[in-house]
Parts: sequence; C-alpha cells; structure tokens
Amino acid sequence: MFCPNCDRQLSDNTTFCPDCGMRIGAASADNSTPPVAIVGFVLSFIIPLAGFICSIIGMNKCKKENRPGHGIALAGLIISIVMWVINTIVSFGFLGYLFEYLENTNIIS
Ligand SMILES: [Zn+2]
Repeated sequence: MFCPNCDRQLSDNTTFCPDCGMRIGAASADNSTPPVAIVGFVLSFIIPLAGFICSIIGMNKCKKENRPGHGIALAGLIISIVMWVINTIVSFGFLGYLFEYLENTNIIS
C-alpha cells in the first residue's frame, strides 16, 4: 500500500508513514478512543446518570472492538457514581436544613 499523503510505499501493517507521519487506514480508526467514552467522562461531572450510561456503552465498545479508552470509561463510571452520591447527600442535607428552618418559623408545627 501507499501513503495517501506523500505516495511513499509502505508495509501493510504500518500505522504511521515514516516519511510524513500520516496515520494510515483502518488501523487508525481502531486505535482511537470511542467518543462515547469521552462524552461519558465529561457528562459524569454534569449529569451523573447520562455519564453513567455513556461510560457503560463506551466500556463495552472498548472491550468489543479492542480499542483504548477503557480507563477513561471506567473513570467516568466511578465519577458518575461519586457525583450522584454527593448530589444525593447535598439534596438531603438541603431538605433537612429547609425543614428545620420551617419548623423554627412555625410554618410546620
Ligand atoms: Zn507519507
């Protein structure tokens, strides 16, 4: 096969052209992190449930297609769980504070 950028002849299992550094063919697609894994990692901070789902999809994709990104998907999974727990604790803490405040002002007796 030939480099699509500089037309140098290459061996079939080459991933990069030694002349111009161009990534070659199908191998480059298989060696990239699935976008869903990155999306899952980012979403886990903002919308934990969406991040959790995307990270699971990303993890399965990495395993099935033997692509990198398993680590980032796992990180997204863990962060989404941690963020979800923190969100739950913060919401319950806020509700407790609210009820205490309402009790003190005799709105709820
Ligand atoms: Zn080249």
